[in-house]
This record gives sequence, structure tokens and C-alpha cells, in this order.
Amino acid sequence: MFQDLSSKLDNAFQTLKGESKISDVNIAETVREIRRALLDADVNYEVAKQFTNDIKERAMGEDVLTAVNPGQQFTKIVHDELTDILGQERVDIAVADTPPTVILIAGLQGSGKTTFSSKLARYLKQENNRSPILAAADVYRPAAINQLKTLADSIDVPVYSIGQKDAVRVAKEAVSMAKSLALDTVIIDTAGRMHVDAEMMNEVAEIKKAVEPDETLFVVDSMTGQDAVNTAKEFNKTINYDGVVLTKLDGDTRGGAALSIKTVVQKPIKFVSTGEKLDALSPFYPDRMSQRILGMGDVVSLVEKAQKEFDEEEAQKLQKKIKSDSFDLEDFYEQLQQVKQMGDLSDLVGMIPGAGKALEDADIDDDSFKPIEAIICSMTPEEKHNPDILNATRKRRIAKGSGTRVSDINDLLKQFGQMKKMMKSFSGMGKMGKMMQGMQ
Ligand code: GDP
Repeated sequence: MFQDLSSKLDNAFQTLKGESKISDVNIAETVREIRRALLDADVNYEVAKQFTNDIKERAMGEDVLTAVNPGQQFTKIVHDELTDILGQERVDIAVADTPPTVILIAGLQGSGKTTFSSKLARYLKQENNRSPILAAADVYRPAAINQLKTLADSIDVPVYSIGQKDAVRVAKEAVSMAKSLALDTVIIDTAGRMHVDAEMMNEVAEIKKAVEPDETLFVVDSMTGQDAVNTAKEFNKTINYDGVVLTKLDGDTRGGAALSIKTVVQKPIKFVSTGEKLDALSPFYPDRMSQRILGMGDVVSLVEKAQKEFDEEEAQKLQKKIKSDSFDLEDFYEQLQQVKQMGDLSDLVGMIPGAGKALEDADIDDDSFKPIEAIICSMTPEEKHNPDILNATRKRRIAKGSGTRVSDINDLLKQFGQMKKMMKSFSGMGKMGKMMQGMQ
């Protein structure tokens, strides 16, 4: 899902790769490409326009972080904006104070209502330990009732049906049935039509009035692109639903519906459906979805951590030191402390795209730094600043003071020398850039 959009966004970020900071000149092309990518993905025109204006504004308003490169920083900005238009926080479905919780499912025919009703029953039963009953209120097509019964059987959930009779009655009786059987959730599957029509809307509105559901969900086929957004608007006008379910996100969808619906109808997406099987249902999390669309490993979390932990001035001072070749063991020690503050080191390594696999099994933790810290702490300021003066006598003294061996000190000095060389060769880039290059 979203593969085409993801790769186009990725291409857009590439144009920022060689830049040293974000400016209105160098992001202009990137922003244009992002807008094109969104429109190609069938995102609503107004939504795409607003989106690109917002990212431009955010990018220009942000401090220039030297700790990350502009491409990474910009990815984070786009991620935050995507999360915003997808709804920011996850919104769960309502639960009634006094059971049963009544959930009404509405949408066009073929959108995936019956399948979703059963998926939701399965999800609530398995994940939330609930005991649902399904109501077959799609009373016009015998096939629909049979389909619901077959699906419900496979997950061992009861169905309330009185055949092809009054849908409002089915819904009301299913609620009474739930009460008498002490079942805590009623999911009402309603009839759809091929297109929005007044009769269908009236029927759903009547069911809604009769059973006063705690949650009304609108199910929409995401493959229908802009039509999905229009249908969402129509249904919202009549039944004022609480949330949206996007189905068929596994198909060849361009993703436009997912990205436009929240902004256009101002109702949260609550679930996404990604297949015909009953377990192909996921609760919707806006931030996870935008990370997935960007497909950038976990660059986003990496930038967040860098923003939190790294002090800008320090980073700039460090940059200067590296350039003038005065980066010494004292600085190295400080760097270690900062890296340690960033949290679990194996997590950190895992977040770096490309490095994750290679270093996954490496045993890196805070303890790995202890001997190095002890060695550096046992040195005089002069030795830290100029390790070249470390002769055999000095090394023996340090080894004794730090509880290590002379060979450990030699190893550290060798690594430090290599690191300095490496840092110098990357000194045009931000600090995180260097770390990443070093770890890859
Ligand atoms: P209803 O008319 O709204 O009740 O729609 P159905 O539940 O009968 O679904 C219509 C068709 O879409 C069926 O063939 C389902 O198997 C299929 N379907 C439903 N949800 C999904 C989904 O998330 N992915 C895919 N690929 N197919 C789905």
C-alpha cells in the first residue's frame, strides 16, 4: 500500500540531500514534488495545497539543527504534517457505560461492510475480550444475510436475523436479544446501495434513531479515490457518523482517500482493512501510518531523539573541533555521555536505516563503554588532549589506575585515531550524519 506515493516522496527528499541547511530556495523544488506526488496519489486538491503550504511554513520556522542533515529534518516535518492530516491521535470506538455497546455500520454496497462487521466482532472478541452479537439488518439481499452467517460461524459469534424483514426491527430486536443473553456488544450490518440514494440514507438514519448507537462507523472502499471522499461527505451529512473505516487498503490503492478524508469530513479514521480474511483488520494509528507512507526506517524517531538530546551549540563547537583537528579524548568522553543519554543503544542502532540488520546482534550497551571511560578518566588533561605523548610508562600507570590492560589502552588509541580520521572526512555533514556513516 502507498508504494507509489512513498517512492515519489522519497525522490522528493533526495533533492535536499547535498544541502547544508533548509532554505526557501532549496525546498521549493522538493515541495513542488511533494504536491505532485500527493495529487498523483489522488489526494484531494485542497488538501494537497494546504499540506504543502503547511510544510513550507513549518520548514522555514524551524531551527536549523546541525545534529541531523536537512533531508532528515525535512522528512520529520513531512511526517508531522502527514500525521496531522491523518488525525494526530488514535481515536478508539466508544464503549457504553451500561452494556450493550451498540455499533452501527453504514456504507455503500460492496464497500466491505459485511466483512468489516465480522472482522470487528472477531477483533473485539479476541483483543478486548468482548462478547458480540451481529445483527443482519441488510435485509434486501438473502446473499448478504447468508454471507454474514457464514463469516460469524467461522468466528463463533451469534447472528440475529429474521430474514428479509424490516431492518429497523432487526436492529432493535438484536439489542434486546443482547440484553437478555448478557452480550456486551451489538454490531449492526446495514444495507448499502451502489450509489448514495435517499431511501438508503433514510433507512440508516431510522435505524440510528431507533437504537441510538454508541458508535456509528462509515465504511468506505479506499480504491474508489475521490469518490470515497464525496460519499463520506454525503453520509456524514445524513447520519453524522463517529468514525471512518477504510477498506481494501491492500489493493492497488493510491492512498488519496486515506489522506483526504479526515480533513474533508473532520471525522477520525478508526480502522483499516487490508484483506478479505477476517484477521486483516488494524486499528488506525495516524503516526504509524505516516511513518509507513514515508518508508524511511525510523529516521523520524532518530530526528526526534536528536532534537531532544543534542545541544545545538555543543554540536557546532564539536564541528569546529573536528575541522581544526583539535578533537581530543576529553571531547570523545563527552560524546560518549551524550550518546548514552539517547537511551538504549541497541534501539538507537536499530533505527538507522541500513545499519539495523548488520548491527542487530551486536552486544552494545552502556557497560561496553565502561573500560573506555575508566581509561580516559585515569589520564591527565595533557594526555587527553595529546594522546601522542602516551609512552609505555604512562600507559602502565593508566592501566593500573583504570583496572585495564595496556593492550586495552592501545586498542582505544587505535580506535580513537581511526574515528578522528573518519569524522574529519564527514565533517561537512551534521553530527548525526557522521554517527550514521560510522555505524553503517
Ligand atoms: P458490503 O456489500 O459492503 O457488505 O461488502 P462485502 O463485505 O460483501 O465486501 C465486498 C467484497 O469486498 C467482498 O468480496 C469482500 O471479500 C471484499 N473485501 C472486503 N474488505 C476487503 C479488504 O480489506 N480487502 C480486499 N482485498 N477485499 C475486501
